[in-house]
Amino acid sequence: MRKQKKQQTLNVRISKAIWNLCNRKKKKLEVTKEWKEQLKNKIIDSICNRCKYCKKPITVGSFSIDHNIALSRNGTNELDNLDIIDLDCNLFKGNLTGKEFSKLVEFLKPFPEMEKILRTRLKMSGFVYNE
Ligand SMILES: [Zn+2]
Repeated sequence: MRKQKKQQTLNVRISKAIWNLCNRKKKKLEVTKEWKEQLKNKIIDSICNRCKYCKKPITVGSFSIDHNIALSRNGTNELDNLDIIDLDCNLFKGNLTGKEFSKLVEFLKPFPEMEKILRTRLKMSGFVYNE
C-alpha cells in the first residue's frame, strides 16, 4: 500500500517535470510518445543514483531535468542533452554547461562554506551566465 502511494507520487512528479519541460516560456515543445517514455525511464533509473555534480542521492522529491547545454546557449531537448540531477544543483548551475559547472563545483570543493553561500546567493538572484 505504502509502496503503491510512493509509486503514484513518483509518477505524478515525473509527469509534472516533463510537462514543465515541454511547456516553458509559452513555447510548446512538440515531442513524441517515445521521447516521453524514454525520458520517464531515464528519470526512474536515476532515482537513488547520485547527482553527478554534488554526489548526493537523487530522490523522488529532489530530481530535476537539466539541459547539459542550456537551451539559451543553443542546447537541444535531445535525450542525450538531458541529465537527471538534483534540483539544488540545477538551480545553482543556471545556464552553465555541465563541463563549466563541474569545474565550478571542483573549484569550490576546498571552500564548503563559500560554496554554501554562493549556492544560496545565485539561486536567489536567478543567476544566468552570459558570454
Ligand atoms: Zn547535485
